[in-house]
Amino acid sequence: MAATPVIEGWFTTGEEPRLLASRCTRCRNVVFPPVPTDADAAAFFCRNPACDGEEHETVALSRRGRVWSYTDAQYQPPAPYVPTTDPFQPFALAAVELPEGIVVLGQVADGYGVADLAVGAEVELVVETLDADEMGERTIYRWRPVG
Ligand SMILES: [Zn+2]
Repeated sequence: MAATPVIEGWFTTGEEPRLLASRCTRCRNVVFPPVPTDADAAAFFCRNPACDGEEHETVALSRRGRVWSYTDAQYQPPAPYVPTTDPFQPFALAAVELPEGIVVLGQVADGYGVADLAVGAEVELVVETLDADEMGERTIYRWRPVG
């Protein structure tokens, strides 16, 4: 069965997955999630208040970063969160600072929890199965502690 990203265009898959961000072509400011790239996106202005650029290019971010902050999701989030287990199983969330200078929030990889995290610790991007049904698997990016 096919495995498809739960959100189109936010990350690549394969052996070495990468997050996809948008970079302003004028000031090179990087934002994640990426800005829309369809025709409706023509008027998306750079978020750098000192820049009036409005064109962005897609760039792949570094796979490794350092934990900036983290927390434990002990209670099931409200919709549109889709529980994948019943009863709900707590998971950890990490905010990871990448060399590009941005912080990206994500779940922590299967099998890891807050006990495996520390501010400043190195983590790596992985793509794991979020859920699956008769249509196939849906995948999401997560942060996995390194070493
Ligand atoms: Zn800019």
